[in-house]
This record gives sequence, C-alpha cells and structure tokens, in this order.
Amino acid sequence: MIIVASSNGAIGIERALQTLKAGGSALDAVEVGIRAVEANPAERSVGYNGYPNILGELELDASIMDGHSLNSGAVALLRGFPYAISVARQVMDRNLPHVLLAGSGAERFAREIGAEARDEMLTDEIREVWRRRLVTSSATGEFPRLSDDSPLLGLVKLATDPERVQGTVNFIAMDRAGDIASGVSTSGWAWKYPGRIGDSPIIGAGNYADNRYGACACTGMGEMAIRAGTARSLVLYLQMGMPLPEAARQAMLDLRDLRGDFIGGMNLIALDSEGGHIGLSSGAGGSYIVQHADMRTHEEVEREVVTIPARWAQE
Ligand code: ASP
Repeated sequence: MIIVASSNGAIGIERALQTLKAGGSALDAVEVGIRAVEANPAERSVGYNGYPNILGELELDASIMDGHSLNSGAVALLRGFPYAISVARQVMDRNLPHVLLAGSGAERFAREIGAEARDEMLTDEIREVWRRRLVTSSATGEFPRLSDDSPLLGLVKLATDPERVQGTVNFIAMDRAGDIASGVSTSGWAWKYPGRIGDSPIIGAGNYADNRYGACACTGMGEMAIRAGTARSLVLYLQMGMPLPEAARQAMLDLRDLRGDFIGGMNLIALDSEGGHIGLSSGAGGSYIVQHADMRTHEEVEREVVTIPARWAQE
C-alpha cells in the first residue's frame, strides 16, 4: 500500500493512507486525499477558494481513473460544487455511458446526485486579488467592463501570469490488492478565459492509470500535457518496457518538441506496478510526497529536473 501525491496533498495524505489501511480501495484513498485539499481555503489552486477565471468565476476541473478496469470519470468547468473529485468519481461509478461532463451539464449531474453544493466558492480576499489583477492588467488602469460582449482576448493574455497561476493536486494510490488509482483536481489557470479546460480532467493528458504498468498525474501548463498526451505517454513508455525513470524522462522530453509561443512548466508524479515512484519538474524542481503502509508520516522526495525552455509571448 502506498500513496504518492504532489506536495500540496500533505493535508490529505495521511487520511488517504488510513483509508487504505481500513480496507478502502485505491479509488477511495485518492478521493479522500483530494477532498481534503479541495476543502482547504489556503490552497488557491484547488477546490473551494481557488483562483477564478477572468470573470471572477471559479470553474473546477477534476478526474479520477481506476487502473484495474481503466474506467474513469471527469468533470470540467464545474461551478458551485467544491468537491469536484467526488463528482468526477460519480460520473464513473454511476455507470454512465460517458467519461467527461462539462459546464452546466456537469452541474446538473452534480445536483441530480445530491453532491455537496456551496453558494459562495470564493473568499473576499481572493475576490480582491482578482479585482486588483484586472485593474493592473487593463490598458486604462481601471477595472474593465466585463459584460457578455466585452472583448476578453487581450485581457486574458495579460492577466494569465505563468509565474503565478500554477497549482493542482495529484494523488496516486496502490491498495492492498495491488490496484492502482490516480486523481487530479484543480481550479485551473488563474484568470483563464471562461470555458478553458486544462489537462486535469482529460484522461491521457493530466491523468492516467493502468494496474499492469503504473500511473501518472500532472501539474503545470495543461495545454502542453493535452498536446503531448503526457500521462498516457509515460504509462505507454512503461508498457514498452522502459524502467520508470526513463519512461518519466521521455514523457517530459516529448514536451520539448512543442512549438509556439506558449510553453510553460510541467511537473509530473508517477508510480509503477512494483510500487516504484518518481517526480519530475521542468524547471522549478521542488518535491512530491510519499507514504507507505509502515511509515508514520509522509516523506518529501525531491523531483528530478528535466528542463523545458519556456517561451511566453506577452503583448
Ligand atoms: N494543469 C493545470 C491546468 O492547466 C494547472 C496547474 O497544474 O497549474 O489547468
């Protein structure tokens, strides 16, 4: 039994491990761990009180994958429901013929299953950060008009600050039976264009699990993981016989081939079917966390750095 998570998962990792020890499945552990992060108002990039989109609305993305059955569930652009990971799990567990629900359909589904709702998803403090950010980003130095027909394109390019907007939580668990599950939850890029969906709810991009080989989950510039299919690539490299460190490095190196003006950072964590784990980062380094059954508390493990030169076009 083992849990691997991004370092902002520290608040949930012990609960996740307890879930496994009490006989819960890897899916249960992933959900429990991520819910703790989603509930934490101090975590600005996941669940309640994350950074909103350019209109000041919080749109959440999440996904969960079962490495035993390769079933998965995901939600995108979910508003008014703080526990996006639980809604994603229900998309999988209710046996719908669907994997991903977005926007008003995801919200309708969440209401229909009685998911926990919350009227106010942002604190006044975050609203003020958003307001100030728009003022400093607007050409006039005043708070911009944000009616339905206001142009947002220029504003989004200015307001989306690659240094400051990143954050997402990743959890991967292996249970007593050797089943692997992975989950990802995020409020996405701060100040994003309304309707923008990142890699976190896209199976194969930000999240992938297959018991036979392993699992991978990503944080960073989701557009890159979508373009390269990063989580699925890593697991496929394992399937092709690469050892975990090599598979992880190759999945990161693939991102160097992406062209265009918007190349930012990428981070991933991964677990193989033997319980081996690794974390990589494209620049910032940092750490990820691990706890297995006989550890009293989690340990921080340094991420290996695989550099991807950033390119960011500001107008
Ligand atoms: N990957 C997330 C997204 O693109 C954000 C992040 O991890 O920073 O929505």
